[in-house]
Amino acid sequence: MHFDLSEDQAAFAAAARSFARQALAPHAAQWDAESIFPREALAQAGELGFCGLYAPQDIGGLALPRLDATMVFEELAAVDPSTTAYLTIHNMATWMLGTWGTETVKAEWGPALTAGQRLASYCLTEPNAGSDAASLQTRAVRDGDDYVITGTKAFISGAGATDLLVLMARTGESGPGGITAFAIPAQAPGIGYGKKEQKMGWNSQPTRIVNLDGVRVPASHRLGQEGEGFRIAMKGLDGGRINIATCSVGAAQGAFDAARAHLHDRRQFGRPLADFQALQFKLADMATELVAARQMVRLAASRLDAGDPEASTYCAMAKRYATDAGFGVVNDALQLHGGYGYIREYPLERLLRDARVHQILEGTNEIMRVIIARRLLDTRRPSDIR
Ligand SMILES: Cc1cc2nc3c(=O)[nH]c(=O)nc-3n(C[C@H](O)[C@H](O)[C@H](O)COP(=O)(O)OP(=O)(O)OC[C@H]3O[C@@H](n4cnc5c(N)ncnc54)[C@H](O)[C@@H]3O)c2cc1C
Repeated sequence: MHFDLSEDQAAFAAAARSFARQALAPHAAQWDAESIFPREALAQAGELGFCGLYAPQDIGGLALPRLDATMVFEELAAVDPSTTAYLTIHNMATWMLGTWGTETVKAEWGPALTAGQRLASYCLTEPNAGSDAASLQTRAVRDGDDYVITGTKAFISGAGATDLLVLMARTGESGPGGITAFAIPAQAPGIGYGKKEQKMGWNSQPTRIVNLDGVRVPASHRLGQEGEGFRIAMKGLDGGRINIATCSVGAAQGAFDAARAHLHDRRQFGRPLADFQALQFKLADMATELVAARQMVRLAASRLDAGDPEASTYCAMAKRYATDAGFGVVNDALQLHGGYGYIREYPLERLLRDARVHQILEGTNEIMRVIIARRLLDTRRPSDIR
């Protein structure tokens, strides 16, 4: 067991850090304030391979281990968690298409998605199916060589600005076994978008309701087999949870670095803030939480890469821990900035607003506890999680 980065991993991290400084950092505050979806920056990320980090190579992806992908996402999230989080969703949807798509759909969409020339959304949640996603009601009915899809998706990241919807719909009985996944062109006739949701954070990416009214797609746009869609959606989310957890680690690192510098720069009572032991202890706790969160995420990513049967549980643990710890670190960093932490000239309040939703989406942290506890208490297949 060793914890050092390989040469490749260090190189990916360095490339991501440089891209983050040049392409994200100068604009992140403006994208947040004006709710601008930075398509151009995302296309530039695509040129570096960041739009298909773990997507298969036959669609132009880099097929990297999830662990390596975390090196990239963490660096980007340290300056712009919102744009990075969208990028992770795009990576997740692109991987799903590359893994379960037909040759036809992979040829049509894969290379453009991995290059960042086209963008994807992941559509699972519905107005009445959030945590209980397996109760979704959007229906896909087979009609000759096509499916006709009708229903409503809620809270869809990127919706209205993306080109492809990876969407879960019901083709069979109630429950998870009746769900099928599809890749649907985002401008197909019958698709309508709701208003851009006004959000606390994640403002550099739109979130909208998606209405589907008799949307016709060829059967070649099905991902996997009928009835496999919920399993595919959850496979996507295993990696998605690592990604969102990584965005929290990145945001926390960005906030921590700012706080450490501020403790040296800011003087009160005739001394730098760094001289006060109460604040030293706060910083020590923040660093400890941050390192623990990062290692938890890397452990889960390694388990997923190794095909460990307990990987989903580790992913849920990492998502729960890192998004809670990450939010705590960002909040502490804001506190160490005093009033300056609360004003928009400094990045702290944006990092805080962006990191908050990580505790809610891709499965809330309560649902992460449901997943972990269910596995721990399974008497038919005892777990050896340790
Ligand atoms: C900004 C944003 C972007 C999003 N992007 C996407 C996207 O791109 N694609 C997508 O498909 N979805 C997306 N979502 C949806 C997100 O995944 C859901 O909001 C989330 O899964 C929770 O569902 P809900 O909002 O319906 O809450 P509910 O399920 O109604 O939950 C409400 C509360 O009850 C708790 N709760 C529910 N059931 C239980 C239980 N059994 N035990 C204990 N507590 C429970 C929850 O943890 C939560 O605290 C996004 C959401 C947001 C806010």
